[in-house]
Amino acid sequence: MPYITPFDPWKSPLCTCPPKYSLNPYTGCGHGCLYCYASIFIKDFYSPRPKKEFLKKIEKELPKLPPESLISLSNSSDPYQPLEKIHKSTRMFLDLIKGLPLKVLIITKSNLVLRDIDLLKKLRVAVAITITTKVYQVRLEPGAPSFEERLLALKVLSQEGIPTIVRIDPIIPEVNEEEVLEVLTEVLPFVKHVVVSTYKANPRSLKRLIKAFPEKAKILTDLYLQKGERKKGGIYLPEEIRKSLIEKIYNKVNQIKEVSFATCREGLVEFSFQGRCDGSFLLN
Ligand code: SF4
Repeated sequence: MPYITPFDPWKSPLCTCPPKYSLNPYTGCGHGCLYCYASIFIKDFYSPRPKKEFLKKIEKELPKLPPESLISLSNSSDPYQPLEKIHKSTRMFLDLIKGLPLKVLIITKSNLVLRDIDLLKKLRVAVAITITTKVYQVRLEPGAPSFEERLLALKVLSQEGIPTIVRIDPIIPEVNEEEVLEVLTEVLPFVKHVVVSTYKANPRSLKRLIKAFPEKAKILTDLYLQKGERKKGGIYLPEEIRKSLIEKIYNKVNQIKEVSFATCREGLVEFSFQGRCDGSFLLN
Protein backbone atom coordinates (compact mmCIF):
# COMPACT_ATOMS: atom_id res chain seq x y z
CA MET A 1 0.00 0.00 0.00
CA PRO A 2 1.57 3.36 -1.03
CA TYR A 3 1.87 6.15 1.52
CA ILE A 4 0.85 8.88 -0.95
CA THR A 5 -2.69 8.03 -2.04
CA PRO A 6 -5.47 9.87 -3.91
CA PHE A 7 -7.52 11.83 -1.37
CA ASP A 8 -10.83 10.13 -0.91
CA PRO A 9 -12.60 10.97 2.33
CA TRP A 10 -14.39 7.64 2.66
CA LYS A 11 -16.11 8.31 -0.68
CA SER A 12 -18.19 11.11 0.84
CA PRO A 13 -20.49 12.48 -1.90
CA LEU A 14 -20.44 15.81 0.00
CA CYS A 15 -16.71 16.39 -0.43
CA THR A 16 -16.05 19.35 -2.76
CA CYS A 17 -12.25 19.26 -2.60
CA PRO A 18 -10.25 19.51 -5.83
CA PRO A 19 -8.31 16.37 -6.81
CA LYS A 20 -5.33 15.89 -4.54
CA TYR A 21 -3.17 13.34 -2.83
CA SER A 22 -3.08 12.56 0.85
CA LEU A 23 -0.05 11.74 2.97
CA ASN A 24 0.12 10.90 6.68
CA PRO A 25 3.68 10.65 8.04
CA TYR A 26 2.22 9.07 11.19
CA THR A 27 -0.41 6.46 11.90
CA GLY A 28 -2.72 7.78 14.62
CA CYS A 29 -2.40 11.06 16.44
CA GLY A 30 -1.25 12.29 19.82
CA HIS A 31 -3.43 15.38 19.92
CA GLY A 32 -6.22 13.22 21.29
CA CYS A 33 -9.19 15.22 19.99
CA LEU A 34 -12.41 13.71 21.33
CA TYR A 35 -14.36 14.46 18.17
CA CYS A 36 -11.75 13.03 15.77
CA TYR A 37 -13.36 11.11 12.90
CA ALA A 38 -10.09 9.40 11.91
CA SER A 39 -9.98 7.65 15.28
CA ILE A 40 -12.95 5.54 14.21
CA PHE A 41 -11.21 4.00 11.22
CA ILE A 42 -7.63 3.54 12.44
CA LYS A 43 -6.61 0.88 14.93
CA ASP A 44 -4.98 2.14 18.16
CA PHE A 45 -5.44 5.66 16.87
CA TYR A 46 -4.52 7.38 20.12
CA SER A 47 -1.22 5.44 20.31
CA PRO A 48 0.46 7.13 17.37
CA ARG A 49 3.52 5.73 15.64
CA PRO A 50 5.70 6.83 12.71
CA LYS A 51 5.16 5.11 9.37
CA LYS A 52 7.65 2.32 8.72
CA GLU A 53 10.45 3.11 6.24
CA PHE A 54 8.72 6.40 5.61
CA LEU A 55 11.42 8.21 3.66
CA LYS A 56 12.48 5.17 1.65
CA LYS A 57 8.92 4.55 0.46
CA ILE A 58 8.21 8.21 -0.24
CA GLU A 59 11.37 8.48 -2.35
CA LYS A 60 10.03 5.69 -4.56
CA GLU A 61 6.52 7.14 -4.79
CA LEU A 62 7.29 10.77 -5.54
CA PRO A 63 8.55 10.22 -9.13
CA LYS A 64 5.20 8.59 -9.99
CA LEU A 65 3.16 11.72 -9.20
CA PRO A 66 2.08 13.95 -12.11
CA PRO A 67 3.72 17.41 -12.09
CA GLU A 68 1.72 20.08 -10.21
CA SER A 69 0.17 17.47 -7.95
CA LEU A 70 -1.23 18.75 -4.68
CA ILE A 71 -0.38 16.78 -1.55
CA SER A 72 -2.48 17.27 1.54
CA LEU A 73 -0.54 16.73 4.74
CA SER A 74 -2.40 15.33 6.64
CA ASN A 75 -6.00 14.19 6.64
CA SER A 76 -6.01 11.29 9.12
CA SER A 77 -3.39 12.48 11.60
CA ASP A 78 -1.55 15.70 12.42
CA PRO A 79 1.80 16.11 10.64
CA TYR A 80 3.05 18.26 13.56
CA GLN A 81 1.77 16.13 16.42
CA PRO A 82 4.15 15.61 19.39
CA LEU A 83 5.95 12.66 17.71
CA GLU A 84 7.23 15.02 15.04
CA LYS A 85 9.50 16.69 17.58
CA ILE A 86 11.43 13.41 17.80
CA HIS A 87 11.03 11.69 14.45
CA LYS A 88 10.91 14.71 12.10
CA SER A 89 9.17 12.67 9.36
CA THR A 90 7.22 15.73 8.18
CA ARG A 91 10.34 17.86 8.03
CA MET A 92 12.20 15.13 6.10
CA PHE A 93 9.35 14.96 3.60
CA LEU A 94 9.31 18.74 3.07
CA ASP A 95 13.05 18.72 2.61
CA LEU A 96 12.76 15.92 0.05
CA ILE A 97 10.28 17.75 -2.17
CA LYS A 98 12.25 21.00 -2.32
CA GLY A 99 12.61 21.89 -6.00
CA LEU A 100 10.02 19.35 -7.20
CA PRO A 101 6.96 20.58 -9.16
CA LEU A 102 4.55 19.80 -6.32
CA LYS A 103 2.17 21.78 -4.13
CA VAL A 104 1.58 21.10 -0.45
CA LEU A 105 -1.36 21.89 1.78
CA ILE A 106 -0.43 21.48 5.45
CA ILE A 107 -3.28 21.00 7.93
CA THR A 108 -2.26 21.12 11.57
CA LYS A 109 -3.19 22.21 15.07
CA SER A 110 0.40 22.76 16.11
CA ASN A 111 2.72 25.73 16.28
CA LEU A 112 5.54 23.22 15.70
CA VAL A 113 5.00 24.08 12.04
CA LEU A 114 6.98 27.28 12.76
CA ARG A 115 10.11 25.17 13.22
CA ASP A 116 10.02 24.48 9.48
CA ILE A 117 9.57 28.02 8.20
CA ASP A 118 12.96 27.82 6.49
CA LEU A 119 11.66 24.95 4.33
CA LEU A 120 8.14 26.32 3.89
CA LYS A 121 9.58 29.45 2.31
CA LYS A 122 11.23 27.31 -0.38
CA LEU A 123 8.04 25.38 -1.25
CA ARG A 124 4.66 26.03 -2.88
CA VAL A 125 2.75 25.62 0.32
CA ALA A 126 -0.31 26.86 2.19
CA VAL A 127 -0.86 26.17 5.88
CA ALA A 128 -4.25 25.57 7.46
CA ILE A 129 -4.42 25.80 11.24
CA THR A 130 -7.47 24.14 12.76
CA ILE A 131 -9.04 25.87 15.74
CA THR A 132 -12.06 24.55 17.59
CA THR A 133 -12.10 26.31 20.94
CA LYS A 134 -10.35 28.69 23.30
CA VAL A 135 -12.38 27.73 26.33
CA TYR A 136 -12.47 23.93 26.16
CA GLN A 137 -9.16 23.09 24.49
CA VAL A 138 -7.87 20.98 27.38
CA ARG A 139 -11.10 19.01 27.54
CA LEU A 140 -11.61 18.60 23.81
CA GLU A 141 -8.04 18.35 22.49
CA PRO A 142 -5.91 17.37 25.48
CA GLY A 143 -2.68 16.74 23.55
CA ALA A 144 -2.82 19.74 21.23
CA PRO A 145 -1.26 23.21 21.56
CA SER A 146 -3.33 26.03 23.06
CA PHE A 147 -5.39 28.54 21.12
CA GLU A 148 -2.77 31.22 21.81
CA GLU A 149 0.00 29.08 20.33
CA ARG A 150 -2.05 28.42 17.20
CA LEU A 151 -2.95 32.09 16.86
CA LEU A 152 0.72 33.00 17.10
CA ALA A 153 1.52 30.39 14.45
CA LEU A 154 -0.98 31.98 12.06
CA LYS A 155 0.44 35.42 12.78
CA VAL A 156 4.05 34.43 12.16
CA LEU A 157 3.23 32.40 9.03
CA SER A 158 1.28 35.29 7.52
CA GLN A 159 4.06 37.74 8.37
CA GLU A 160 6.46 35.40 6.57
CA GLY A 161 4.29 35.55 3.45
CA ILE A 162 2.98 31.99 3.63
CA PRO A 163 -0.69 31.66 2.59
CA THR A 164 -2.69 30.85 5.70
CA ILE A 165 -6.08 29.27 6.26
CA VAL A 166 -8.06 28.78 9.43
CA ARG A 167 -10.35 25.82 9.82
CA ILE A 168 -13.05 26.50 12.41
CA ASP A 169 -13.70 22.85 12.85
CA PRO A 170 -15.80 21.30 14.22
CA ILE A 171 -18.55 23.54 15.53
CA ILE A 172 -20.24 21.49 18.24
CA PRO A 173 -23.67 22.78 19.23
CA GLU A 174 -23.97 23.85 22.85
CA VAL A 175 -20.24 23.27 23.37
CA ASN A 176 -18.20 25.77 21.35
CA GLU A 177 -20.89 27.46 19.23
CA GLU A 178 -20.95 30.56 21.42
CA GLU A 179 -17.23 31.21 21.16
CA VAL A 180 -16.53 30.61 17.47
CA LEU A 181 -17.23 34.21 16.45
CA GLU A 182 -14.73 35.47 19.01
CA VAL A 183 -12.16 32.94 17.79
CA LEU A 184 -12.79 34.05 14.24
CA THR A 185 -12.39 37.73 15.11
CA GLU A 186 -8.97 37.07 16.59
CA VAL A 187 -7.64 35.01 13.68
CA LEU A 188 -9.13 36.95 10.76
CA PRO A 189 -6.27 39.47 10.45
CA PHE A 190 -3.85 36.62 9.80
CA VAL A 191 -5.70 34.41 7.29
CA LYS A 192 -6.69 34.50 3.64
CA HIS A 193 -9.33 31.78 3.77
CA VAL A 194 -11.78 30.40 6.34
CA VAL A 195 -13.17 26.85 6.28
CA VAL A 196 -16.04 25.92 8.57
CA SER A 197 -17.41 22.53 9.46
CA THR A 198 -20.03 21.34 11.92
CA TYR A 199 -19.44 18.26 14.04
CA LYS A 200 -20.47 15.06 12.27
CA ALA A 201 -21.03 12.48 14.96
CA ASN A 202 -20.48 8.78 15.14
CA PRO A 203 -21.43 6.70 18.16
CA ARG A 204 -17.88 6.44 19.51
CA SER A 205 -16.89 10.10 19.27
CA LEU A 206 -20.30 11.18 20.57
CA LYS A 207 -19.84 8.91 23.56
CA ARG A 208 -16.45 10.50 24.29
CA LEU A 209 -17.95 13.99 24.03
CA ILE A 210 -20.82 13.13 26.33
CA LYS A 211 -18.39 11.68 28.87
CA ALA A 212 -16.35 14.89 28.81
CA PHE A 213 -19.43 17.14 28.85
CA PRO A 214 -22.02 15.23 30.93
CA GLU A 215 -23.98 18.45 31.37
CA LYS A 216 -24.56 18.45 27.58
CA ALA A 217 -25.53 14.78 27.33
CA LYS A 218 -29.25 15.38 26.90
CA ILE A 219 -29.00 18.07 24.25
CA LEU A 220 -26.27 16.30 22.24
CA THR A 221 -28.19 13.03 22.33
CA ASP A 222 -31.34 14.79 21.21
CA LEU A 223 -29.69 16.77 18.41
CA TYR A 224 -27.69 13.89 16.97
CA LEU A 225 -29.39 10.62 17.89
CA GLN A 226 -33.01 11.78 17.83
CA LYS A 227 -33.07 14.61 15.29
CA GLY A 228 -29.82 14.09 13.39
CA GLU A 229 -29.54 13.05 9.75
CA ARG A 230 -27.56 9.93 8.93
CA LYS A 231 -25.35 10.50 5.91
CA LYS A 232 -22.21 8.95 4.53
CA GLY A 233 -19.51 10.33 6.82
CA GLY A 234 -21.49 10.57 10.03
CA ILE A 235 -24.61 11.75 11.78
CA TYR A 236 -25.26 15.35 10.78
CA LEU A 237 -27.15 17.98 12.75
CA PRO A 238 -30.54 18.91 11.31
CA GLU A 239 -30.00 21.12 8.26
CA GLU A 240 -31.58 24.25 9.75
CA ILE A 241 -29.27 24.11 12.75
CA ARG A 242 -26.21 23.64 10.56
CA LYS A 243 -27.26 26.59 8.42
CA SER A 244 -27.68 28.87 11.40
CA LEU A 245 -24.32 27.84 12.92
CA ILE A 246 -22.52 28.44 9.64
CA GLU A 247 -24.36 31.58 8.59
CA LYS A 248 -23.09 33.77 11.41
CA ILE A 249 -19.50 32.95 10.48
CA TYR A 250 -20.22 33.39 6.78
CA ASN A 251 -21.71 36.86 7.42
CA LYS A 252 -18.67 37.92 9.40
CA VAL A 253 -16.14 36.69 6.82
CA ASN A 254 -18.18 38.21 4.02
CA GLN A 255 -17.53 41.68 5.42
CA ILE A 256 -13.84 41.32 4.59
CA LYS A 257 -13.24 41.17 0.90
CA GLU A 258 -9.65 39.89 1.13
CA VAL A 259 -10.77 36.71 2.97
CA SER A 260 -12.68 33.89 1.30
CA PHE A 261 -15.03 31.39 2.91
CA ALA A 262 -16.01 27.77 2.43
CA THR A 263 -17.59 24.89 4.27
CA CYS A 264 -16.39 21.30 4.53
CA ARG A 265 -18.72 18.42 3.60
CA GLU A 266 -21.91 20.24 4.53
CA GLY A 267 -23.82 19.86 1.25
CA LEU A 268 -25.57 23.21 1.73
CA VAL A 269 -26.14 24.99 -1.58
CA GLU A 270 -26.09 28.42 0.10
CA PHE A 271 -22.50 27.81 1.10
CA SER A 272 -21.29 25.79 -1.88
CA PHE A 273 -17.77 26.63 -3.02
CA GLN A 274 -16.97 23.79 -5.38
CA GLY A 275 -13.25 23.15 -5.67
CA ARG A 276 -12.30 26.02 -3.34
CA CYS A 277 -13.21 24.53 -0.01
CA ASP A 278 -9.80 23.46 1.25
CA GLY A 279 -8.03 26.73 0.39
CA SER A 280 -5.55 25.06 -1.96
CA PHE A 281 -6.54 27.60 -4.65
CA LEU A 282 -4.22 29.97 -2.74
CA LEU A 283 -1.37 28.00 -4.31
CA ASN A 284 -2.39 28.64 -7.92
S1 SF4 B 1 -5.32 16.68 15.41
FE1 SF4 B 1 -6.68 15.94 13.82
S2 SF4 B 1 -6.03 13.81 13.46
FE2 SF4 B 1 -5.15 14.45 15.44
S3 SF4 B 1 -6.63 13.72 16.96
FE3 SF4 B 1 -7.11 15.87 16.45
S4 SF4 B 1 -8.68 15.74 14.82
FE4 SF4 B 1 -7.69 13.70 14.97
